[in-house]
Amino acid sequence: MKIRVRFAPSPTGYLHVGGARTALFNWLLARHTGGTFVLRIEDTDLARSTEASVQAILDGMRWLGLTWEEGPDIGGPYAPYFQMQRLDTYKRYVDQLLNEGHAYHCFCSKEELDAMREEAQKKGEAFSYTGRCRNLLPEIAQRLREEGRQPVIRFKTPTEGETVVDDLIHGEVTFQNALLDDFVLVKADGVPTYNYAVVIDDATMDITHVLRGDDHLSNTPKQILIYQALGLATPRFGHIPMILGQDRARLSKRHGATSVMAYEEQGYLPEAMLNYLAKLGWACGDQEEFTVEELIEKFSVAGINNTAAVFDQAKLDWLNGVWMRRLATPDLAERLKPRWQAKGWLQARHTDEWLNGLVELLKERARTLVELVDYSTFFFDVPIDYKPEAVEKFLVPENRAILEALRDRLPKAEPWDLPTVEGVFRSLASELGVKAGAVIQPARVALTGSTASPGMFETAYLMGPELVGKRLQGALDLMAARV
Ligand code: GLU
Repeated sequence: MKIRVRFAPSPTGYLHVGGARTALFNWLLARHTGGTFVLRIEDTDLARSTEASVQAILDGMRWLGLTWEEGPDIGGPYAPYFQMQRLDTYKRYVDQLLNEGHAYHCFCSKEELDAMREEAQKKGEAFSYTGRCRNLLPEIAQRLREEGRQPVIRFKTPTEGETVVDDLIHGEVTFQNALLDDFVLVKADGVPTYNYAVVIDDATMDITHVLRGDDHLSNTPKQILIYQALGLATPRFGHIPMILGQDRARLSKRHGATSVMAYEEQGYLPEAMLNYLAKLGWACGDQEEFTVEELIEKFSVAGINNTAAVFDQAKLDWLNGVWMRRLATPDLAERLKPRWQAKGWLQARHTDEWLNGLVELLKERARTLVELVDYSTFFFDVPIDYKPEAVEKFLVPENRAILEALRDRLPKAEPWDLPTVEGVFRSLASELGVKAGAVIQPARVALTGSTASPGMFETAYLMGPELVGKRLQGALDLMAARV
């Protein structure tokens, strides 16, 4: 049997971390087994679904590289892939359920239902629809229709027995049918509910495995009952445990970014994000670092944990640093380019070779693309911040002669290469009879604004003669203004 899985987001917001992980696990199952990964948009919540959210979800999936074989934008043999375009199909099956006595029209109004709910509350009972319209006489139904009441269609849930979810992650979970109410299949406006539409879609799209968040586990017995009533084969279900914040509450905005694209903005690499999401609730021995190819090769549903995962920002940062160093320097430089461009920092002299040199110099220290761009500020001809403590300590009158000498000599160094630049620092130090550090530290503060930077010679070399001259003069001006 060829495996067919799907990711079925509701377009009511961006792609969030939990959704992306669900998509990833389904995608990995498809890729690992040579199966098919379907993207289906569950847009039946008319009030909350938007076109912008559909786009945001597709963007997030594309950024992560989670490609689909069938879906809204590309179509496929089971099209359409938007639920609101599948109303005919839902109608056909609900007619079958009605005709075969598995469903019925319910005319209870919102007010009546509220009253029942209140009644139950007073008695301290959980509300479940009592099935008042279950055996409505056809004449009464007719009269209610004539009065203009729009019925919903409810499922006739068996009042006894139990429904077992044979879950791939949690094992067998048993639900008492008596505790499931006669839930709504189709609302008064003809739009199906989630529990109904999802069954019809998964069945008619030949979905074999459903991996989704375990917040859906309580829906699954209802869905199984619909499959059974229609005589349709059920897929295998696997309910993935939730993602929690460090405080063990369900992950939410309060814990930081939950949108996948917010991580893109913050400078995380899709490779690192995928690696991190895979490890969030799935394990293969104690391996932490995975390429996407390794994930595909090693993924199995059996490796999904059956307890909640805790989102660990520090681990994501660490993995992102790992991936920044794993990428070939030119690749990393390409990904940084748009960020430098957006800042307006790039000039003609910033050739690919120059940018590669810069990345090479900084990539050990940065954990994100944003951090690397930040660390790279002083290499570009832009105003920089001088750290007050550094200025206090090194841009002092005793160092004036050193900085003036460097200002005069460095821009004239010929040829402009690393050994010549280094030579200027070293010969000045020996001329003055001081250690190299005595020349380097004030220069570092003058050129970078702080006492911490990559190697001074590489830094000065990459900055180039003009910027070096300009910064040294700027530092001297700053000193003059201070006295
Ligand atoms: N649209 C549902 C959701 O986003 C899909 C759940 C499912 O995969 O069945 O939660």
